[in-house]
Amino acid sequence: MASKLPGREVIVVGAGLVGLSTAFYLSRAGFSVTIIERDQVGSGASRGNAGEITPLTAVPLAGPGMMKETFKGVFTRDGTLTLSPARALKLATFGLGFIRSSTQARLTSGVDAMTQLGRGALAAFAEMQDEGIKVEGGGSGFLYTAEDASHVESYHKLLSERAADGVSEMPEPIVYGSELHQLEPVLDPACEAGFVAPGEIWIDPALLVESLGEYLRAQGVKILEGARVVGVHPGAQPSVDYVHSGARNELSADHVVVAAGAWASELLKPHGIHLGVVPGKGYSFTVAAEQLPTHLIHLTDARTVLVPMAGRLRVVGGMEFDGSYEAFHDDRIEMIERVTAPLVRGIDWSQKSELWVGPRPMTADGLPIIGEYAKLPNIVMATGHNMHGLSLGPITGKAIAAQLSGQPVVVADRHVDMERFAPARLRRLLS
Ligand SMILES: Cc1cc2nc3c(=O)[nH]c(=O)nc-3n(C[C@H](O)[C@H](O)[C@H](O)COP(=O)(O)OP(=O)(O)OC[C@H]3O[C@@H](n4cnc5c(N)ncnc54)[C@H](O)[C@@H]3O)c2cc1C
Repeated sequence: MASKLPGREVIVVGAGLVGLSTAFYLSRAGFSVTIIERDQVGSGASRGNAGEITPLTAVPLAGPGMMKETFKGVFTRDGTLTLSPARALKLATFGLGFIRSSTQARLTSGVDAMTQLGRGALAAFAEMQDEGIKVEGGGSGFLYTAEDASHVESYHKLLSERAADGVSEMPEPIVYGSELHQLEPVLDPACEAGFVAPGEIWIDPALLVESLGEYLRAQGVKILEGARVVGVHPGAQPSVDYVHSGARNELSADHVVVAAGAWASELLKPHGIHLGVVPGKGYSFTVAAEQLPTHLIHLTDARTVLVPMAGRLRVVGGMEFDGSYEAFHDDRIEMIERVTAPLVRGIDWSQKSELWVGPRPMTADGLPIIGEYAKLPNIVMATGHNMHGLSLGPITGKAIAAQLSGQPVVVADRHVDMERFAPARLRRLLS
């Protein structure tokens, strides 16, 4: 027998960055919220990531340059991007959509769409901070560096163009050789050039999810951990089936928000809907450094990131498409060390801790999926944030709270075209 909650009730499936942020804004808007989480708060891709808040430089993965990299990834496990050949068939629909999205025109349109949301991202974090939520544990200023100076120069040009459009802050001038090593002594002389993007910030994402969870509980949001949703039922009174402590339960509400990250597609499959969200797994671990860098460092050739956090260095990298959500492969950690170690000095690689893997919820066109699917009344999607779920999580929550309140989504005084994020667009792209 389904239990019906009184008033404007919302069930949120998933307590990752997006689910927690959605609960935050729904609760502020006066909704009564229950979060149902398979494991623990933040247990998907939300805790061990790089902590970068870069809403205005967030771009879709699919783009003209990525095709070569992707095909290389199918045939080798040496690269940061790997694709299991055994799973290639299962990923065929995603791959087809990815190829279709890899034109310059689609990339430009995707960047424009993300910018609409990105403009309000920092304000949303500030609203959380005003409530005492911990948006902290990091710093500001990203250093982009490479062995090949031309790579740095082309990225510097791109960021300068974005800054000239008023979208992000102007990067500092490129520095070369000894000047770069004075700026950041942890870099090996193999790094030829680099520049600082001073406006970019990072935080400790684990602090954020912990403190969001505590805050929401204090506000009366019910968070059921260890409860796996196994069925989502649309309708005037939508409901979910979930398994908790071995028992099957049903709960209904006025809306169900599916914020299940990379797992979201599975929940909709029984309704014949293929969103094509696939897990793009990334890894991180922590090491001790003789001297911590003062910036978050992007090693652009290695495609790894060094993040000073809590007095140690978090090393982040990898994009693995093997169809699994959580399978941990030691060789990915070895690969990250192999490509990173020659570019930095003073790191004790023998003592790695906090080894972590998380599934990025990847969409074929690189855009998040936000909103209702007409075929599934009162089921609202909030997933597919790819590599940007921290940057865009809070503003996504705010957009959903506006939608469920029957209001237009307005970000930084501009109406957002939410059709760009609507789940229905994927039916056209993936068929
Ligand atoms: C290595 C790495 C580095 C990254 N760095 C950054 C970064 O610097 N900046 C940035 O913005 N983004 C970054 N990301 C991406 C970011 O982590 C993700 O986009 C974000 O975590 C997605 O949030 P989410 O809430 O949608 O999904 P998740 O964080 O995965 O949360 C989904 C939750 O749903 C739960 N769930 C799933 N299925 C069910 C079910 N059936 N029933 C109940 N609960 C369920 C899961 O257990 C999980 O807790 C990174 C990701 C990785 C892997």
